[in-house]
Parts: sequence; structure tokens; C-alpha cells
Amino acid sequence: MSFNFLSSFGQKITHRTAQLYSNLMPIPCLLCGSDSSNECLCQDCVHTLPTLEHACPRCATPLEHTMICGQCLHHPPQQNSSFSLYLYQPPITRLIADLKYYDKLFLSRFFAGKMAKQLKDRPLPQLLIPIPLHPRRLRYRGYNQSLVLAKYLSALLTIPIGSDMLIRTRDTASQASLPYTQRKQNIQRAFKVNHNTLPSHVALIDDVLTTGHTADIAAKSLRQAGVDIIDLWTIARTIRHY
Ligand SMILES: [Zn+2]
Ligand SMILES: [Zn+2]
Repeated sequence: MSFNFLSSFGQKITHRTAQLYSNLMPIPCLLCGSDSSNECLCQDCVHTLPTLEHACPRCATPLEHTMICGQCLHHPPQQNSSFSLYLYQPPITRLIADLKYYDKLFLSRFFAGKMAKQLKDRPLPQLLIPIPLHPRRLRYRGYNQSLVLAKYLSALLTIPIGSDMLIRTRDTASQASLPYTQRKQNIQRAFKVNHNTLPSHVALIDDVLTTGHTADIAAKSLRQAGVDIIDLWTIARTIRHY
């Protein structure tokens, strides 16, 4: 009996066992626990998620109409445009915490699928750059959720990822743990561009857009390195303005 035969026999058994297990133990919806046909959320819960319908195209602040907001007219952020899929409110807050802190990486596939559907008809960037974590934080958490999200977006939209082109040079305290007024100061000089030639149009990928300070400083570093158009794509946007 050849090794190849044993290997393919073993794979078939593993596949059948996984199939049997998923039939006997279907994955319930993460939010309501009902049968979700092995998706992470059932269709009823998907339909109740707080979609961001109208927002400022520059900073994704929720607005009644899709117009540039007053803040962006006077003090525009570094990025040229911002896209967020959802409002950062329950149950999105819980799902993003699951993705970010509790290893539920499969949620990034769900979010990327929804994001790609809305983004595919826009002028697409030549490169996706996930907001990097400092190596110390990466070691503690074990993964960068923005990179995982970028990988799914990359596959769906056929855009390469530049995961090592922007690096985190300062292990800044978690932005979420700081008062609003201290966040901007905390993030200054946190990034460095690690590449000589970047394309003219890139998209920064992050999970949540809150004050915008992190994205603003990252975009500023890219701008200084010669990038012309910078989009910012996030899963969710807080209602708080810049
Ligand atoms: Zn559900
Ligand atoms: Zn705005």
C-alpha cells in the first residue's frame, strides 16, 4: 500500500468525520443561538445589524445625507475617503470584541464578504495595508485582526496586501483605555513606512474607526512616503466625531 493512498484515505476519513460532526453538532448563530446553517450568524440576526447607511465620505461619520461633514470641510483627515460597514453599537461591539480578543477569527470572513460587496464597484486601491500591531502586542494577542480581515478582502477583491510596509515603532498604550483627549498625543510617531516604492493608491484596513487618530497618523506616514490616494476601510464606525 503506497503512502499516497494512505494519505488520501486518511484525508477522506478526516473530511467525513468533520462532515458528520457538523451535521450532528450544527454551529449555532453567535448572537441568538438558533440554527444558522453553519454560518456564524443566522439571517434574522444579519438583517438586524446596524448598517451605516449615510455617512461623510471623508471620515465615515454617520450623517443624514452622504455629504462632506462640517469637520472635514475645515479640518479634513489625512485619508481621502473612509468606508465603514456598520455603526459601532451592539451587537457589533460584541462581535468585534469576539474577533479581536476571543479568537473568533472566522468573523473576519463574514465581515470581509459584506464589505467586499459594497466596495467592489468603487475605484479600488492597488494595495491593502492593515494597521499594524506593535510586535509586543502581536505576541501577546497572537494575531492581528486587521491583517486577517485584509487577507479575506484581498482574496475577494484581488488586491495584494502589503503587511510589512507599515510598521509600528511604538508600543503605545491601547487607545481604547485612554480618555479621548489623550489619544492623539499617545499615537504620534507610532508608525514608520518600511518600503521605498509604494503604489499611488492604497487602502488602510482596520477593525473600528473611533477618534480617527490612529488612522490619521498611519495615513500621514503613507502620505509622507509619497502615496497619493489613501482610503480607510473599517468594519465599524463610532458615532463620535474627530
Ligand atoms: Zn441569530
Ligand atoms: Zn467628515
